[in-house]
Formats: sequence, C-alpha cells, structure tokens
Amino acid sequence: MSERPESFTFRAEVQQLLHILSHALYTDREIFLRELISNSSDALHRMRVLLLTEEQVVDRDAELAIRITSDEQAGTISVSDTGIGMTHDEIIENLGTIAHSGAKAIMEQLAKEQRSDLIGQFGVGFYSVFAVAERVVVTSRSYRPDAQAVRWEAHGGDSYTVAPDDRTARGTTVTVHLRQDAKEFAQPWRIRQIVKKHSDFIAFPIYLGDEQINQTKPLWRRAPREIERATYVEFYRQLTMDWDEPLHVTHLSTDAPLDLHAILFVPARRERGLIERRIEGRVKLYSRSVLIQEDARELVLPDYFRFVEGVVDSEDLPLNVSRESVQRTPEIGRIRKTLTGRLTKELSQLAEKEPERYATFWREFGIFLKEGIAVDPGARDDLLKLLRFHTSRGDELISLAQYKERMVEGQRAIYYVLAGDLESARHSPHLDALAARGIEALLLVDLVDSFLVNSLREYEGLKLINADSPDLELPALPEEPAAEALPEEAFARLAERAKAVLGERVTEVRASQTLRQHPARLVAADGQRDRDLQRVQRLLNRDYQAPSAVLELNPRHALIRRLADLSAQSDDGLVPLLIEQLYDSALLLDGLHPNPAHMVPRIQRLMELAAAARDDTPAA
Ligand code: ADP
Repeated sequence: MSERPESFTFRAEVQQLLHILSHALYTDREIFLRELISNSSDALHRMRVLLLTEEQVVDRDAELAIRITSDEQAGTISVSDTGIGMTHDEIIENLGTIAHSGAKAIMEQLAKEQRSDLIGQFGVGFYSVFAVAERVVVTSRSYRPDAQAVRWEAHGGDSYTVAPDDRTARGTTVTVHLRQDAKEFAQPWRIRQIVKKHSDFIAFPIYLGDEQINQTKPLWRRAPREIERATYVEFYRQLTMDWDEPLHVTHLSTDAPLDLHAILFVPARRERGLIERRIEGRVKLYSRSVLIQEDARELVLPDYFRFVEGVVDSEDLPLNVSRESVQRTPEIGRIRKTLTGRLTKELSQLAEKEPERYATFWREFGIFLKEGIAVDPGARDDLLKLLRFHTSRGDELISLAQYKERMVEGQRAIYYVLAGDLESARHSPHLDALAARGIEALLLVDLVDSFLVNSLREYEGLKLINADSPDLELPALPEEPAAEALPEEAFARLAERAKAVLGERVTEVRASQTLRQHPARLVAADGQRDRDLQRVQRLLNRDYQAPSAVLELNPRHALIRRLADLSAQSDDGLVPLLIEQLYDSALLLDGLHPNPAHMVPRIQRLMELAAAARDDTPAA
C-alpha cells in the first residue's frame, strides 16, 4: 500500500470533547473499554441481521465475537470484532464527528460548566479512548465484498489520518496506545475486571486470549430462582447506565404456551442523572437471542408503562427486522398482554406487601397510571387497584377500596377536591361540609387528575363527586352550627353589593348552607359542565379567565357578618377590597387564579388599613 494517508481536522466540537476527555477523572477512565465493546457489539448485532438477508458477505462463516488482546510491554490494548466493519467514507463520517447522543449531552452541559466527571454516567462513545490513549489506530474492513480495508489514526490532537489498509478479515480493530499513566489497562487481570463490571451481559462472546470472559448465557434465559438481586442490579446498570438501583425487577421465563424470556425494571426515579433527563424506558427486543429492535417498548408494553426498561426475548417472533411486520404478528400481542398482566400483578403485590416502597413508586410513576385510566378504557379494571390518593384525613396514601371501607354511615358517594397543590387542597372551603360529617375526600392535585375523574366517574357503584358541587346531598347533621346567621335582609344587601363589585365574574352571590370554617367558596354555575378541566385550561391558556361561578358566602362567619355591618354603615373603600380578596382567595384555593401575584398590591393596601386602624394604640 503506497498511497499517502489523507489528513483531516476534527470538527471543533470533537476537539473540545477530546480536550475534556484527556483530563477525565482517574476512576472514570476505565469506561473506554465498555464503550469500545459496546460499539463492537452493535456492529455484530447488525452483522447478524445482515447475514440473514445478504448473499454476498465477506467472511460469511466467521464467528460473531469480540477479541481483546493486550501487550504489557508495548502498553497497548486492542478490541477486535467481526461486525459489519466500515468503509473509507463511513469511517470518516463516523469517527470524525460526534454522533453519540451521550457525547452530545455532555457537550451541551460543558458549554455551561467544566464537568469531566460526567463521562462515566453517560457513555461518550468511541472518543472516550482519549481518556487513556496517546495514539489510537483503527483498522476496518466492511462486510461488503467490493470495499477496501481502511486505516484511521489519531494522536488525540486536532487531526487524524485515513489510509488504505491491507487487512482482509471482516470487522474492526481498535488499538489503543496507552498513555504513560494508563498502562494498567494492558494488564489482563484489569481487563477481566472491567469487562465483568461493565460488559458482562454483552450478547456475544468476549475473548481475552482464548478464554471467554463474559457470561455465556443471557441472563433473561436463565432460571429466575438461580439469580440474586445483585446480579439483576448489575445487569440493570449495564443496560441503562442508571447508577441508582431499580425499584422493582420482574423476571419472566417460560417456554410454553408462549416462548417468552423477559427482564423488566421499574427505575427508582422518573428523572435521572446529574443532568436532569426525562427518561422514557427502552425495551430491547430479541428473537432467538438476536437483537431485532433496539427499543420496542411501544410494541410490548402499553403507554402507561413507558417508564419501564428491560429486555424481551421470544423464539416465537419472526426474525424480521421491520417494525411494522413485528407489530403485525399475533405473538407480539400475546407478549404484550402477558408482560402487562405480569407487571400489573407484581405492582399490586408490592402495594400490598410493601406499602412504603409502593408509595415511592406511586410518587414517581403514579401519574402515568392515572393517565392510563384516562386514555385506555381497557386497562381501567387492572389499573384501578393500583391507584393511590392523598385524602383530607391524614398523610397516608390510600386506595379506592380503603376509601370505601372508611366511608361513614349514610355516605353514598366518593368526594374529591381539585386544587393546584396539596396544601391548597387541604385548605379547600369545599371540605367544610364534608369535614362536619366526618366524610373523607380525595385530594386531587395532578393535572392528569382532571382527566382521571372525568373518565372514572364511578367506582363499584359509588359516584365520584366534586366537592365544589352546589348540592352534595349529604347525610343530615345531628346538630346545627352554634353561631348565629346574619338576618336575611342584611345578607341580601351584602350579596347585592358583592355582585356589584365582582360584576361578570360571578353569576350570583348567595348564602351557603354548607360552609363552616370558611367565609366563602365558588361553586359551579348552573349548566357549567367542565369544572374538572378548568385547571387544564388555565395552564394551556395564556390569558385564561376563570369562568363565572356562584359565590357562596357563609352568613355565620364573623368576617361576613362584620362585612355586612361595614357595608351598611360606610363607603370607605374597604368593603370592595375585602370582597375582591374573598373572591380571589376562593379562586386561589381552587387552583384557578390566573395570576396570584396580582393580589399582592391589594393585600398590602389591606395591611396598611389594618395598621392604620391601630394608630391610636400607644407606641412601644
Ligand atoms: P455511537 O456508537 O453512539 O453511535 P460512537 O462515537 O461510539 O457513537 O461511534 C460512532 C459510530 O462509529 C458508530 O455509530 C458506528 O457507526 C461506528 N463504529 C464505531 N465502532 C465501530 C465498530 N467496532 N464497528 C463498526 N462501526 C463502528
């Protein structure tokens, strides 16, 4: 080969990344081997699929495997595979730019701050070799018979070269010339240790010399009872790069009636990592141990389990690579049904046996299950058992079954309060009438709750009723409240005044039959159907206006009685301020105030008036 090598300069972002990597934390450096093995594994998976369809392939009979060799004297380590290989153009395209999503995420973060400690968590792909290398040589030969082998070389500086190579074997070899301070990675014991730690579950044999150093049988095809939790955790880490332990592991391994081997994980958290990342679980799909889809979660699990991660393997799936055709097979439907049923069952067992752990699960992923009920009527019965709620009666989360058990004599419905947050819900004026009768209410504060109640409507014959309804048809109270109510006439005058102040914002102001602790509340006007969805509207609409509602005032409340007096006596501007504030407070507790900050000037004005009223008291 006499052709002169071509020289290229790395793109600016690659140069930047290389600079960061060369300063990587000592403990992070070992992941370069994981990244090289993972690239080899990808290339082998693609090769395995191509072998099924392509006629003309270089080295058709070569074993699909990864070989690691090292030379302690020379200070080198090589990772070699019989994967698809790369052509001249592919190697320039693939190794000259940042393709890897993890590397991109790091670059974005680094634009903000210098954080080389991120690389272990992310997996930055091929470039991580520059954490240990002073020189890297890649030779590759594509599986395509007409392609010429190629040699790529870089010194970790700003440029690399590409030249033809005389290699004949299919695949890729990455040879790392280790830096002086990284020679340890040429030691066989160290290599073995790193492979165990990071790459044990790779689906192809990894050889060090003649010896295979990774697991031989895929974990999901082994008997669940033989596997310890620590092994699952290790597998989870290698699969997802999530350093937290998973919250729950499901392992299912059956041959009949369906051949199905799956390990599914519920992660510990919805958000993950140093950089906030919203996770959507990925489920790898294998057929006869051949990876046919990198992420088939949508095919094998319903949307409401979209946080689940794992692997699914079935011999009953055709080895067909197209997503559409996999989707069409009846087997995928059966797999989906089996996995969904299994997960649902295990979650309800978890809820029963380990309520605290389940509460953690619920806090992170409960909204997805609520969404499931709202959008997937077929899932309703299964998911109902998994629902948990905060209620007006304490801090624990309870199920609908528990709610039903705790209902009081004469109670005929399930009541709920919708609010923007738990604290507001607990202070809701709508709870007054319920609390007086010892009736518990569900406190609903997630946005999706509005949709949930809309589609739930009832549970075991009990209607779900919003506590803000004008007429709750509650059991009669043994005794009436002690405080005296405003005379009707005085109330009527106050109501008229309030209506004049609030105008279109209220359809009517009337005396409440139910309020006890609270001076006021807003209830749905006649014919207003979508009160449950108002909070959603509020978030979607930039200039949201709360719909006109009925303002109920509590004629027994000291503040309302005093307000009626003031309103009759004078016209000093205090009365309208108080009426406005009563209205705004009620709106706020319902989670419907378009802009709470608007209340501040008024509250300040009220504070000034309150302070001024004390002017005659002698200063301390
Ligand atoms: P990623 O693997 O996430 O795409 P990398 O930077 O690790 O990012 O690799 C970039 C690309 O280089 C890969 O997508 C692949 O196309 C190619 N590549 C890397 N290693 C190999 C290999 N051993 N065999 C074939 N192609 C490879």
